[in-house]
Formats: sequence, structure tokens, C-alpha cells
Amino acid sequence: MYLGIDSGSTTTKLVLTDATGRVVSRRVGPTGADCEATAEALWRDLASEGGVRDTQIKAAVATGYGRRRVTMAGRVVTEITCHAAGVHHLLPGVRFLIDIGGQDSKAVRLDASGAVEDFAMNDKCAAGTGRFLEVIAGKFGLSLSELAGAAGPEAVPVEISSTCAIFAETEVISLLAEGHAREAIIAGVHQSLARRVATLAQHLGFDGPVAFSGGVALNAAMAAMLAKVLALPVRTCPEPQFTAALGAALLAKGES
Ligand code: ADP
Repeated sequence: MYLGIDSGSTTTKLVLTDATGRVVSRRVGPTGADCEATAEALWRDLASEGGVRDTQIKAAVATGYGRRRVTMAGRVVTEITCHAAGVHHLLPGVRFLIDIGGQDSKAVRLDASGAVEDFAMNDKCAAGTGRFLEVIAGKFGLSLSELAGAAGPEAVPVEISSTCAIFAETEVISLLAEGHAREAIIAGVHQSLARRVATLAQHLGFDGPVAFSGGVALNAAMAAMLAKVLALPVRTCPEPQFTAALGAALLAKGES
């Protein structure tokens, strides 16, 4: 079996595959302060539930922000390469990828074999990441799935002019006070994030179907808004939060 560990800044994901590359098991949990202990605990849980022994793991690859701290993996590979490997496996033929995680977002252009041709990344500004949606969901007292559901596909998005997640939070309060509908403000928040991420994609010249991965891809309203802003078809990866961990397991197996 092969193990992929994605030690992200917000969540840690594990994917275990068999010798054919089929997913046998997955785990996700908050990364917290100690990424190594978190990865170990998730592995112990997965192994004990699935009756898997350490000796059955032929190779393990760690990726993500905390990858160098995850000593249980024999190799480290960047998230960009792992996302590309995961997308190439899940959606073969798709040459463009957007990943939105908890504290960064990336646009990646792949070649026909799934190798990374070019990429652009934002890890400086929270307004271009899942953190932005978390802050706004908190403001409205909604869970992340409720926030996605409240985006109102029919609503005309309200323009959010702030370029910073903290200022945008204040702006949302003012917009509510001015009497804008909650659905329209939430649609505006999704539009604002989509525009920010689209800038990365446009920088790389995206001009075909786009794969969408990362935890924020669990939000269907975000996928719809990205498709609208990019004017391109957006295909959400199956189990999108595990794309990089899957890619890591596939790379451990020597695939891609
Ligand atoms: P990272 O790899 O950077 O740690 P993830 O790819 O796991 O991050 O994404 C985490 C983000 O995914 C969170 O910030 C949150 O915005 C989003 N997210 C997680 N679960 C959901 C959900 N059920 N619906 C919508 N968004 C979600």
C-alpha cells in the first residue's frame, strides 16, 4: 500500500491506496500546532480501524505546508506537484487547476502528461483563501456548508470593495446595516474570492476546463461563481480536499 500525507496549514489529510492506486481509506483532521503529531494520530486511527500495519506501507510521501515536519514519510513533494498528480488521475485531460485551501490559493497549468507547466500562488492575503469564507461565515453565525447554501444563485452579488479580509468583514456589517439582503452579500463575498483567485488563473492564461480542488471546492456556490467569473467550465474534483494527499500517494507509488 501507499500513503499520501498532506499536512496543510488548516487541515491534515491522509490517503491510503492499494498497489493499483485505488483509494482504500482516508482521514482528515485539523492540523493544529503540532503537524507531526496530528499526522501520526490520523495514521494510527486509520491503521487501527483498517487493520493496516506499518510494514504494509511500501512508500509514503508528505506534502503541504508542514511536509518537512512529517518524518513518517520517506519523501517530500510540493503541493503544486501533488495537486497536479491528483487532478491528472481524477480528471485526466484537464490542463488547468485551481486549489483553494484554508490559507492559500493556487492556479496551476499542466501539460498533457499531467506535469506542472507553470503556477501562481497567493499565500499572503487571506481575502484570496478559504479563511475569508470562514471569517464571513462566523460573522453570520453560519457553518461553511450553510454559507455556501446561503449564497443564493439567483441573488445579484453586492460589490465588496475591501481588498483585505479584515476590512471586508467590517464592510459586510455596513452592507447589512444599509439593508442589503443577506443572500446578495454572501454572493458578493463568493464573487470577491472568485475574482481574486481568477486573477492568478488569468495570469497563467487559462483557456479550457478547470479542475477545482482543496477544501473550498466542497462549496458548490464557489465552483459556480468561479465558472461565472472565469467564463470557463469548472469541474470539482471528487473528494476535492484529498486531491493533494491522493497525488502524494500516487507519487509514492511512482505513478504520474
Ligand atoms: P489546507 O490544505 O490549506 O490546510 P484545505 O484544502 O483543507 O486547507 O481547506 C480548508 C478550507 O476548506 C477551510 O478554510 C474552509 O474554508 C474550507 N472548507 C472545509 N470544509 C468545508 C465545507 N464543508 N464546505 C465549504 N468549505 C469548506
